[in-house]
Amino acid sequence: MRLSRFFLPVLKETPSEAQIVSHRLMLRAGLIRQEAAGIYAWLPLGFRVLKKIEQIVREEMNRAGAIELLMPTLQLADLWRESGRYDAYGPEMLRILDRHERELLYGPTNEEMITEIFRSSVRSYKDLPKNLYHIQWKFRDEQRPRFGVMRGREFLMKDAYSFDVDEAGARHSYNQMFVAYLRTFGRMGLKAIPMRAETGPIGGDLSHEFIVLAETGESGVFCDRRVLDLPIPGEDVDYDGDLSPVIEQWTNLYAATEDVHEPARYERETRPEDRLQTRGIEVGQVFYFGDKYSKPMKALITGPDGVERPAQMGSYGVGVSRLLGAIIEASHDDKGIVWPDAVAPFGVGIVNLRPGDGAVDAACAQAYAALSKAGLDPLLDDTDERVGAKFAVMDLIGLPWQLIIGPKGLADGVVELKRRSSGDKQSLPLAEALKVLGA
Ligand code: ATP
Ligand code: MG
Repeated sequence: MRLSRFFLPVLKETPSEAQIVSHRLMLRAGLIRQEAAGIYAWLPLGFRVLKKIEQIVREEMNRAGAIELLMPTLQLADLWRESGRYDAYGPEMLRILDRHERELLYGPTNEEMITEIFRSSVRSYKDLPKNLYHIQWKFRDEQRPRFGVMRGREFLMKDAYSFDVDEAGARHSYNQMFVAYLRTFGRMGLKAIPMRAETGPIGGDLSHEFIVLAETGESGVFCDRRVLDLPIPGEDVDYDGDLSPVIEQWTNLYAATEDVHEPARYERETRPEDRLQTRGIEVGQVFYFGDKYSKPMKALITGPDGVERPAQMGSYGVGVSRLLGAIIEASHDDKGIVWPDAVAPFGVGIVNLRPGDGAVDAACAQAYAALSKAGLDPLLDDTDERVGAKFAVMDLIGLPWQLIIGPKGLADGVVELKRRSSGDKQSLPLAEALKVLGA
């Protein structure tokens, strides 16, 4: 992409309404624009990152055996009456009337709808297990939307729903999602710690929240800091095998949100030097809730013994849009965002220091072609901005690499290659620089 043809409305001023750094940087770098309280337009740069994050989530769900579908954002109120949640959900639910005065709602989550889809066709234990997911916009009329995409009203969520014959099967499905979450967040460069958690309006008796530690997070957390060094399962993890050793390793060390924190147990199970009391951002949550929906909604399965029982269910959410905020909270400096390679909107920024200079333009064109061919998705700054302003924008938008090409360097046969995360710069011939980048 050429910057001169792109749409990148960066802000010169720091927006005063933004209280935390990720929100400020997302507005300044032109990733999002607020259209109403807690409702954002995803500008091209932000949209690219959103899609990258979504794709990592999708790949890890698929690897774990979940199957993607897409449910609508609007749901019938009557469906929610079947589970009893239409009245229970309260003012966070956006309720809508259509022209026929039929009651609809903008889905805050999809347990009821997936249960309805499931029960319409699945009857036998032979068809189980199944894990169905979608990546879809949700609406929750949050009392205090704030911190940008971190607590929006409209937000993008991945939600998966597992169906099993019995509790043992359901626990295996839970473990699969647990491991998939470790891998998903790890691939984004995040350390997300699974913590024992309250189940809230989703219900059930077993739940973990995956939390990225950050002072600006909304959840208070208590954990054993050694949990930060645990290994993440590789992509060859056997999802059909016994995953409980991984789960045990990750749940043996104390880690709990403030809602379920047990001070006496914390003192007993942790050494004083390992205690970490801080705050964090919830990027995902997994629940096992048995027959909470399948029973009232009559999603019944005939077992091998010929007896019908409600399916055993779990649900598993990831805050796809919230993740942009969480990643920026975890990875930025005073100049701007520092995107981890896996989610960067472009792989490398090429800075043309003198557009119109034949040799510089030619070298930039050569670099652009080679990097594009190698799939590195370059962003070429071919604008007439001041050099200082170009550097500031490149640092602000946080692409992993900057390839800086100007007349002085070219006269000496070199370009400059800068790694955004370390700030390290090296001068080297263009061909060498392209090799370092993998082109
Ligand atoms: P929270 O406690 O932050 O309100 P929640 O526990 O109600 O979230 P879940 O029902 O577990 O949310 O939803 C799954 C995921 O969706 C959460 O882990 C979070 O990452 C994300 N999420 C929930 N609410 C919001 C929101 N208002 N804005 C952005 N992401 C959200
Ligand atoms: Mg939650």
